[in-house]
Amino acid sequence: MKKLNVTKDLFESEVHSYITNKESLELIEKAYNCAYRVHQGQMRKSGEPYFVHLLNVAYILATLKSDPKTIAAGLLHDSVEDTGVTKEDLALLFDEEIANLVESVTKIKQLKFNDESEYLASNHRKIFIAMAKDVRVIIIKLVDRLHNMRTLEWHTPEKQKKIAGETLDVYAPIAHRLGINEIKNELEDLSFYYLKPDNYREVANLLEKKKTERDEHVQKMIGEIEELLTKNNIQYRIFGRSKHLYSIYKKMTYKHKRFEEILDLQAIRIVTKSELNCYEVLGHIHANYKPIPGRFKDYIAVPKMNMYQSLHTTIVGYEGDIYEVQIRTEEMDKVAEKGIAAHWRYKEGLNNNALNQKEIEEKLSLFRDINLMTAELDNPVEYMDMLQKDIFEANIYVMSPKGRVINLPNGATPLDFAYRIHTDVGHATVGAIVNNVLVPLNTPLKTGDVVQIRTSKQNPAPSEGWLKIVKTSHARNKIKTYFLKKEQENRAEMISKGEQIFKDELKKRNLEEKEFLDKTKLDNIYSYFSVSNYSDLMYAIGMKSLNSSAVVDKMTTKRNVLDNIANLFVSSKNKNLSKSKSGVKVAGIETMMIGISNCCLPLPGDEIVGYITKGAGVKVHRVGCPNIANSGRLIDVSWDEVILRPSYEAKIQIESKDRNFLLSDLITVVAQCQSNMVAVNSKVNNETLTAITTMTLMVKDLEHLRNVIANLRKVDSVLKIERIIN
Ligand code: MN
Repeated sequence: MKKLNVTKDLFESEVHSYITNKESLELIEKAYNCAYRVHQGQMRKSGEPYFVHLLNVAYILATLKSDPKTIAAGLLHDSVEDTGVTKEDLALLFDEEIANLVESVTKIKQLKFNDESEYLASNHRKIFIAMAKDVRVIIIKLVDRLHNMRTLEWHTPEKQKKIAGETLDVYAPIAHRLGINEIKNELEDLSFYYLKPDNYREVANLLEKKKTERDEHVQKMIGEIEELLTKNNIQYRIFGRSKHLYSIYKKMTYKHKRFEEILDLQAIRIVTKSELNCYEVLGHIHANYKPIPGRFKDYIAVPKMNMYQSLHTTIVGYEGDIYEVQIRTEEMDKVAEKGIAAHWRYKEGLNNNALNQKEIEEKLSLFRDINLMTAELDNPVEYMDMLQKDIFEANIYVMSPKGRVINLPNGATPLDFAYRIHTDVGHATVGAIVNNVLVPLNTPLKTGDVVQIRTSKQNPAPSEGWLKIVKTSHARNKIKTYFLKKEQENRAEMISKGEQIFKDELKKRNLEEKEFLDKTKLDNIYSYFSVSNYSDLMYAIGMKSLNSSAVVDKMTTKRNVLDNIANLFVSSKNKNLSKSKSGVKVAGIETMMIGISNCCLPLPGDEIVGYITKGAGVKVHRVGCPNIANSGRLIDVSWDEVILRPSYEAKIQIESKDRNFLLSDLITVVAQCQSNMVAVNSKVNNETLTAITTMTLMVKDLEHLRNVIANLRKVDSVLKIERIIN
């Protein structure tokens, strides 16, 4: 465990080692004094003044060669949360940039993952990155965590385990993705120490036991290589390198290796002047020692995603021991240890602010693009998969005022947020406040937004217009369910209203309620009024779409209209079936003209009903076609397999997100499904960017149409397909 007593002198000498500009030094001094003042009187768990923490953070930042503003922000990073200082104060006292850095660090700190289900390390990492906006915020947070881990001994064992777990799951991987290996290794070892103290001790003891022998061998091996390189006039630095404990433990547990089997326990690093020198050194080493096949890696030609560059080889060396050798330039070595921080370490004289800032932004956006959080950056296939996943499942993370993090799809609105908090909150929403500003409910949210929902206590009810606003299926379903329930309640009300009207009608005519509410009697009239049961009938009466007196008329008349019409056409008493070119037969009728209606375009397989037109015979409709609802001129018809046409017309409407080649993709699918297209028409709504395509197709039957629709549904960006009725 590193124990370092950072004094003001030590901090200043670190700062002076690379910053000499007077203004910059004054800025750091000012931040130092400010932090000292505002935290005065605060103590850490260790009993030390709080300021010690800030000094340590600033010191580590200086060892990473951070720019003066980052160091200032490091000194002030806890001031907004822990003291009365505000962001505005910092902007006035220092500048907007420093104020923003401190604010972002504070915001990340306020993230709370109370709900266990929401705690997903990879999510947490993404939120962290997304919220940081500036890579310097991430570096300050990492350094802050590093110092907190170094002083974790002052916490309770439960707290130690919780913080160490989070460090291992969230912080160490971020340090790894940024290539800051120094910090990553220390975070891992410290977490390991608190999470698995027994294993930690075991590995530490194993390392210690063999240390003398190993050190001796490594020194001998180094001597041999030195001789070799000097003889060949190559400038170099060479040193032995010890693996950190957690990585040894991981290899022992995950790769099931015994301690002795871990090949790179004995490692040597050679740092030389140029890339060319690296390959030269490699050549000499391979010429003198036997390399182990499959262990050579050229990360100079193909750098790792976190920009790491080096040559790695494993050789059989002194005493037949196995040595891992890393060969790299000074610059590569810096990047390997300090990672992303090395790329824009502060260089005086260059126009740092403008140039560096731009470089930082570019690098950071690069890191965002390539997705920092891939599980294993060394594996290109997995990396591409993850990248793909992230593009398609682009998420945003917003917070409740209490810091609860809610994960929503891109484009989600305050309403989606409200329904995710609770269905009742969603229903009662009347307004939304995002980052302290009242906004319309359809405002798309961004990562980091703090969202507050205003609700109404009186008559909380969603509006149907919300269905067009919400982006999550969760919210959409809740709204739909609400209206469905409402409709059912209305329906129950309408049914009893219909019953009352019906009873009143009976009373008016002095008819017996009991006799007319008889089930068998009612059963006979349902199809006549094209309703399917008692409640439908009463609902129709309640809704006034069916006249109660017509119903009673029908029940009191012995011969109905339908019988009359049917009788006109009956040519014989036997049940011969009439056939026609429509493919539809009418029981008991031969000579009737039968045609397919143009509105609902029934297909073989559809449930159908005939409508007796005035003078044009029978038109066949789909059961439930609104154009014939409640009509009294209906007749039973059915499909006749013997006389079916080869194909029938069908009309569908396809709703989809607009994109290039959408129409041609749709048409291709129709053709592939052996269907002919008769007509097509496509319209794009520029506001919602949805395309509505209507198609008239020729299909064999309902099954064929269903097959076409199923295949069209698979076309990318198609949202909804419906059969339409004119
Ligand atoms: Mn802190």
